[in-house]
Amino acid sequence: MKTRANSNVIPGTLEPLMDIRGITTDKVKAICQQLGVRSWRELVTAVTLEQLEGIPLLTPENRKNIRRALKLDKDADHRMQLWDAILQGKEILQSIRQFPEVKRASFAGSLRRGKDTIGDIDIVVEVAGADRKKLLYKIDRMPLTDRIIAAGKSRICVLLHNQLLVYFYLADQQHYGATLLYYTGSDRYSLSLESLAAQKGYRFEPDGLYDIKNNEYVATENEEEVFRHLLLDYTPPELREDQELATATNPHKMPSLVTFDQVKGDMQIHTDWSDGEESIAHMAHYVFSVFPHYQYIVVTDHASNERTGHVLRPDDISRQAAEIKDINDAIGYDYVKRGVEVDILENGALSLPDELLKTFDWVIASVHSHFTKDNTARLLKACESPYVHCIGHPSGRLIGSRHPYPVDWDQVFAKAAATSTAMEINARPNRLDLNDILVKKAIANGVKLVIDTDAHSLAQFDFMQLGIWVARRAGCCHTDILNTFTWEEIEKFKKSKRNIIA
Ligand SMILES: [Zn+2]
Repeated sequence: MKTRANSNVIPGTLEPLMDIRGITTDKVKAICQQLGVRSWRELVTAVTLEQLEGIPLLTPENRKNIRRALKLDKDADHRMQLWDAILQGKEILQSIRQFPEVKRASFAGSLRRGKDTIGDIDIVVEVAGADRKKLLYKIDRMPLTDRIIAAGKSRICVLLHNQLLVYFYLADQQHYGATLLYYTGSDRYSLSLESLAAQKGYRFEPDGLYDIKNNEYVATENEEEVFRHLLLDYTPPELREDQELATATNPHKMPSLVTFDQVKGDMQIHTDWSDGEESIAHMAHYVFSVFPHYQYIVVTDHASNERTGHVLRPDDISRQAAEIKDINDAIGYDYVKRGVEVDILENGALSLPDELLKTFDWVIASVHSHFTKDNTARLLKACESPYVHCIGHPSGRLIGSRHPYPVDWDQVFAKAAATSTAMEINARPNRLDLNDILVKKAIANGVKLVIDTDAHSLAQFDFMQLGIWVARRAGCCHTDILNTFTWEEIEKFKKSKRNIIA
């Protein structure tokens, strides 16, 4: 660690700049003098306006490290999918939890909020002040670490070998709750909590909660205590995204969000009858033993009269039905339901005729072609079919590779609600479709949702949690999510559609 500059040219708020790798006192002085920067805010502005380019003393590496430490690195703009971030984040948590200095550690930031893509990983660590240098040393030696970008009293910024940035925020036991709360919320959420705290006589800062009257720390060993001081209900991390929710500060209006434990089945699954990797029997027995709280699964292989290759052809359907019957006989009840995923053709018709559709327990209709045109009319027409129970991956987006096609969602959700057609939250990491914003709109319109993994292999059944996060971020309770219902209740939902359309 460098010694602190005792120079009057460097304002106290800019001293943490010297915690950044490669940034010397002279370099900070140059920034202050040549750019007239006097505060952290002015520094952020100068970096954003790329004014650091004008300081010859700074190397390109210096400028990059400053941008990274300030979370302003444009190169970090390529965001990773939530699933990959979770796997990577868990590996880091596992490593640091082995250090005896680390008393507690938790994800914070967008990862903890379950956002569909993640820019960097934030972790809050409980560590005593005296142990922080030791912790820094150990983090520097972790096999995952490429190098430390910045290290100060209260945070460490690390670049991993895979170019991912990880920010560790350090707190002692007494301030862990406030620190975790501060770094979990979006910027907007944390700002709105700051102003709410001020109204109630507190200063809410990254390193803790202070009583304004006597300027003393208020102990907050966990987040619940902070919420209690602010007279708020505990707010689940998924809802700490936008200002409205932070300030729609209840009290006591917090929805009881849907949880994974409430899920009773998975309603989109592909087997080796179409493009999946496993037999129906393998998938059924796997889910039956690994997810004991599930009461049913719905096999929904692709089927089409119109195309060939990795789809069920009409004459396969009865043979598949016989196979499912044998599996259910072995299990002892109708655990495996007979579903299908049909294509919505360009004109809105479906890829199987009605006589076949009506033989299935569950019919998903999905757009698998013409991804750039406005698909409102196709979705409306599919909702109007008396045999379609659910629209699969309704927006068609693939995160990082395909934009959603244009759709008039007001019209589609109104039609879905009026026809008792469910909308899917497809939980595949690159789909998460519908997304949180559209799900919120859907439930406001009275539309029911189904969270499906769309599993094509055994490991993919784990994606269910990703879909749960989408639903929770949208504020869904279990009553919004059809597959938290028993199959008898789902039959009632299907019957309401038949009654409406008939
Ligand atoms: Zn599909």
